[in-house]
Amino acid sequence: METPKNPTSVNHRIREGLSRLAMAMRTDDWTRAKTSGLNPTQLAILELLQGREDGLGVKEIAANLGVSQPTATDSIAALERKGFVAKRSAGADRRGVNVGITGEGVSVLEEGQNSPNVAEQSVDALADHEQEQLLITLVKMIRHLQEIDAIPIQRMCASCRYFVPFVHSDAAQPHHCNFVDAAFGQRDIRIDCREHETANPASRAATWDVFQQG
Ligand code: SF4
Repeated sequence: METPKNPTSVNHRIREGLSRLAMAMRTDDWTRAKTSGLNPTQLAILELLQGREDGLGVKEIAANLGVSQPTATDSIAALERKGFVAKRSAGADRRGVNVGITGEGVSVLEEGQNSPNVAEQSVDALADHEQEQLLITLVKMIRHLQEIDAIPIQRMCASCRYFVPFVHSDAAQPHHCNFVDAAFGQRDIRIDCREHETANPASRAATWDVFQQG
């Protein structure tokens, strides 16, 4: 039995905590998906495709969601029948096929995003500095998962070619985004930015060194 004298490892207990959050978020996803006439995988696909003008290939969709390609294919076919996604040609030679979200898909997604979900409510319960610390901790954890190839590169500032960390002396806004040519702060760091463009590996490593030492 676990007691204060005989605790399990801290990473085990953090995993237990994260799994409780994941459970609440899954319940949320089911409720939101049901309201929109979707299942959670279909909802996750729409969320993944939102803001991606060129769409994504089935393989990329499956990798980003951590599902098999047949599962992704089935869900995409269901979404296509509902008119929420459409296939479009992709790649320089236009011979590949990507899946993109349609206007109807964006509408159904936005309808379900009007009220804060449980995860957002639990973040609201934290103080500002705790929210900022949590955001940066999540960036570090996600970045590590990317480094060990557990997940694909996400559209985070930390991997973006426009990101210049800790370049300004203003402690409230130390970072710079070259895409919009503006300074921004730690709590504005993006996890999933539409304007993200992946930097090359050497540049990503150099940026990360500066960011984590800041
Ligand atoms: S474009 Fe987006 S991801 Fe890139 S630095 Fe600017 S805010 Fe961050």
